[in-house]
Amino acid sequence: MKEFVVISGKGGTGKTSITAAFASLASNAVLADCDVDAADLHLVLEPKIKQESDFSGGKQASIVVEKCIGCGRCSKMCRFDAIQLNGPGNQIVGKTYTVDPISCEGCKVCVEFCPVDAISFKPAINGKWFISDTRFGPMVHAKLGIAEENSGKLVTLIRKEAKRIAEEQKKDLVVIDGSPGIGCPVIASITGADVVLVVTEPTLSGKHDLERVAQLTSNFGIKTLICINKADVNPEMSRNIANDSEKMGLKVVGKIPYDEAFTKAQIMKATLIEYTGGEIAGIVRALWREVVYALE
Ligand code: SF4
Ligand code: SF4
Repeated sequence: MKEFVVISGKGGTGKTSITAAFASLASNAVLADCDVDAADLHLVLEPKIKQESDFSGGKQASIVVEKCIGCGRCSKMCRFDAIQLNGPGNQIVGKTYTVDPISCEGCKVCVEFCPVDAISFKPAINGKWFISDTRFGPMVHAKLGIAEENSGKLVTLIRKEAKRIAEEQKKDLVVIDGSPGIGCPVIASITGADVVLVVTEPTLSGKHDLERVAQLTSNFGIKTLICINKADVNPEMSRNIANDSEKMGLKVVGKIPYDEAFTKAQIMKATLIEYTGGEIAGIVRALWREVVYALE
């Protein structure tokens, strides 16, 4: 069983549309949406949820109102300014302290210093993750709460589940919509993968992003392919990117021209392959053949 990840230096490059198109071309795959901060693969694949679970990225403090004696020690000790004197009060004091769950980093310092053991420290529910069925096979995906972090941990969980399902159902591939950027979530998306496809655009920022992402994949020793989306919008920059890629030893396996079919397919909740049999579908099919070849 192999793992194939589609990533990009930033959001909005067409990464998810391309991943969705691959989902419709892969015949025996499990799909995983690891772009957990901006998950939108489900908009096209319309998964039917079979199993829903809570995701906890770590523990969080909260003050037990009845026990707090209002000494303020926790608030002084918290270096994230997460504890304020704005609680409801109790029989001991007129006002108690409360923890702002968005600011709490779960360091546990307040818990250690509270003289009356008035701070509980429990797993925080940061989001949900799902195992679903789609018209192209099983899919593992997630919904992270607003302003929640630890998405690298959630990405790792999604990949692990997708692999487990692939093994259980004897699928030969996991197709992953990876996180954009070069931070912790993208590292969690690509570590140990067999092939990565980087989708980029012919802009200066696209070029810089590609260099950074390529550095990352090369550090991890992962076979890396490049695809330039909207390549005809700036042919000179596309050539520059292709030259740079060659110098970095990376293969440009596809140049996709700008096509409104990307947006129209998304509006129709269809993949590019389902939406059109035109030139663009042929280009994406050719791109998929390159991926399959690289995975062999
Ligand atoms: S656990 Fe750490 S970050 Fe959270 S409220 Fe306590 S001291 Fe602050
Ligand atoms: S240290 Fe404990 S008792 Fe003191 S204000 Fe904080 S929660 Fe209340």
